[in-house]
Amino acid sequence: MAEVTVGVLALQGDVREHVAALVAAGASAHPVRRPEELERVDGLVIPGGESTTISKLAEAYDLLEPIRKRIGGGMPVYGSCAGMIMLATEVLDGRPDQQSFGGIEMTVRRNAFGRQVDSFEAPVPIAAIPGGPVHGVFIRAPWVERVADGVEVLGRVAAGPAAGRIVAVRQGNAVATAFHPELTGDRRMHRYFVELVRRA
Ligand code: GLN
Repeated sequence: MAEVTVGVLALQGDVREHVAALVAAGASAHPVRRPEELERVDGLVIPGGESTTISKLAEAYDLLEPIRKRIGGGMPVYGSCAGMIMLATEVLDGRPDQQSFGGIEMTVRRNAFGRQVDSFEAPVPIAAIPGGPVHGVFIRAPWVERVADGVEVLGRVAAGPAAGRIVAVRQGNAVATAFHPELTGDRRMHRYFVELVRRA
């Protein structure tokens, strides 16, 4: 199998966990903080953290336009939680000056689950990922309110107060989840993404 190199955007957020998950999923993984580092990767993970901070730092580190360009050019990208927000073409309840990379034609709502279910865990069945529902860890997560026609809904919350909410999507080579698979021992989501990078 060809070795693929996947970058993890390392401005803020749970970078180390994603690097470890990608390595466990069979990729070579490196933090990306500079445009030159972005040029060397076959795919990119945008971690969870705080989307307003990631947005600000992406501008400060001159990564906003280079990442937009590579995503526009078809580079596979996977965003989890704040990373999902960074891939959305429209963000509700964001800061007015908050920027995103785009990549998935969808509207997401930040901190959507509200106070009562601020952070929670719930099963998310994903047909593209066999072996039973993925265990979704949600931490002040967004949900997806609307998707355009070309966007595939990969998964919805299966149980609990948030049941039915869209929390995993894909458009072409761009994948996003509202939950954090890097915080569980289950590497299926990262394997799914590494496979996508391998085929691209
Ligand atoms: N609430 C955060 C944001 O708006 C996302 C939280 C997370 O990534 N765990 O960016």
